Amino acid sequence: MDSNLKLKTRFSFVYVIIAFLALLLLQEYVIGPLVAGEEEVPYSRFRQDLAQGLIDKVTVEPERIVYSVTGPEDDTEKADPRLKAVRIEDRDLVRDLVDAGVEFQAHTPSKSVSGQVFGWILPILPFVVIWWFLMKRMGKGGPGGMMSFGKSKATEISGEMSTVTFADVGGADEVEVELKEIIDFLNHPDRFAKIGAKLPKGILLVGPPGTGKTLLAKATAGEAGVPFFSISGSEFVEMFVGVGASRVRDLFDQAKAKAPCIIFIDEIDAIGQSRSGAMAVKSNDEREQTLNQLLYEMDGFDANEGVVIMAATNRPEVLDKALLRAGRFDRQIVVPLPTEKGRLQILQIHAAKVSLAQDVELDKLAQITTGFSGADLANLVNEAALLAVRRGAQKVTMIDFDLAIERIVAGLQRDMPLEGDIRAKVAFHEGGHALVSHLLPLTDKVHKVSIIPTSRGALGFTMEMPEEDRHLMSKPALEQRLAVMLGGRAAELLVFNETSTGASNDLERATDLARRMVTEFGMSEALGPVRYAGPAGSGYLGGQVATRNLSPDIENLIDAEIRRLLDGAHETALELLTTHETDLREIARVLQEEEVISGETVSEIVAETGESGQG
Ligand code: ADP
Ligand code: MG
Ligand code: ZN
Repeated sequence: MDSNLKLKTRFSFVYVIIAFLALLLLQEYVIGPLVAGEEEVPYSRFRQDLAQGLIDKVTVEPERIVYSVTGPEDDTEKADPRLKAVRIEDRDLVRDLVDAGVEFQAHTPSKSVSGQVFGWILPILPFVVIWWFLMKRMGKGGPGGMMSFGKSKATEISGEMSTVTFADVGGADEVEVELKEIIDFLNHPDRFAKIGAKLPKGILLVGPPGTGKTLLAKATAGEAGVPFFSISGSEFVEMFVGVGASRVRDLFDQAKAKAPCIIFIDEIDAIGQSRSGAMAVKSNDEREQTLNQLLYEMDGFDANEGVVIMAATNRPEVLDKALLRAGRFDRQIVVPLPTEKGRLQILQIHAAKVSLAQDVELDKLAQITTGFSGADLANLVNEAALLAVRRGAQKVTMIDFDLAIERIVAGLQRDMPLEGDIRAKVAFHEGGHALVSHLLPLTDKVHKVSIIPTSRGALGFTMEMPEEDRHLMSKPALEQRLAVMLGGRAAELLVFNETSTGASNDLERATDLARRMVTEFGMSEALGPVRYAGPAGSGYLGGQVATRNLSPDIENLIDAEIRRLLDGAHETALELLTTHETDLREIARVLQEEEVISGETVSEIVAETGESGQG
């Protein structure tokens, strides 16, 4: 490349300058004085020579005096030795020179060449050196020095084959079946070509964070035994202006040279965000260019070249529609949260790496970890192992797993216990949640109630564990869930006749749920089965849901309906707690004593006092 050549010549130019400067230095301080044959003498010697009339010629310079002596008749060694003395303030000098009849002149030496050069070169030399050093550093990435800026990072892992296989992925059997087809294709592209079958160019893995999308992509490459080129969307965004697009081009060039292979773009939402969506208000030219280049490259090659493009995202709804068009990422594979069976497989995979005690029942763990992603489960095993190490134990026991679950669900425990009034209040609050949950039939089972403050700022927590994975919830089930959420606050009202700030998080969550019931699930009779919330997914992962432009009347009606649902839930909770006040007091008492109680303890207390169990 000629850009390379330019770089080389510039470097040799730098060397020439350095050599030139060195020569100047040599001339100025070593050779110059030698040739001139000037000998430095003290000023007193000069005065002495002058007084003795030995001097015949004097040159007065601003900083020194150069003179030659005639020398005594007998001194024949030096015909005309030139001497110099550093000048000293001497008012009588001129008079004495005139008196002695010496030929004298003043002389301003034109600054020597080297002096001039150094005058301005030295100050900028450090900058030159720094610049040169930086260039070298930047250039380390690739063979082209600085000019390889745009080369994709994928270079670094090209040729590196993935060692991950489907055996390392648990609970994704259905996804694996779909990916097998891709593997087939990568292994025998000719077969597909012969029949004229075209595979989708792009496969988009969609699912919540931590469900193993990245892992599955690696495993696909591992199973197929083809090179894996991977780059993350966020890496593109970090790059300098104009580099993103060239990286995409480069990535595809390299991949095509190594076909069959897999290109994997992780977190593609970072570049593939809709250009017209709400997020695009401050449009990002750089990202847009990168996206356009990606679209261009995807269109520009034939599917049967043996390059399969995979991408992953947990926000498919924000992706630009152009990316999902036919011929691009037209096949979407959903990677859901694992089911109980899947969780067991994942736990088995990760637990195989630690030494387990006899008492660990992975199937039980799989049962109570509803909602955990694969990454959560991997983290769970690791946390449990860490706890075992801290205990100084040889093996990881069930207790370690229990504590680890608690840690993950509730944040790290703080060891500062609550005191006095607050302790009682928190006990009644959490007791309220637990009791309402226990008494209502459609709610999740209480797993654990605690009044140990968590590092996330909660003073206590009630942990519920769904007995099965639920995707559909009926209106009564949701109403009962609301009652559980408000149960803590209701208990405070019942016992202390006042509420505390501790319930504000509960209120927030309950209001959110009620709003969704009204505006998304069509569960309000007054409003009917109409969706009032904004387009699906406009709120990222259940965040604030943008409502459509609604008339004030409808807005008021929505608010009224939310209010009605919450009031009803509060009534339910308060009624239950009032009829079971003895149970509530007993639960709160035991809680204050033991700080943590299990769901079974709650059932036992309710059974013992003999009040009717189900409400
Ligand atoms: P995602 O890309 O979907 O956010 P990752 O693939 O990065 O999730 O998963 C992070 C880690 O969690 C993996 O490296 C693996 O250790 C673990 N993990 C996630 N899902 C699974 C799974 N299905 N089977 C085994 N391990 C998993
Ligand atoms: Mg990932
Ligand atoms: Zn609460």
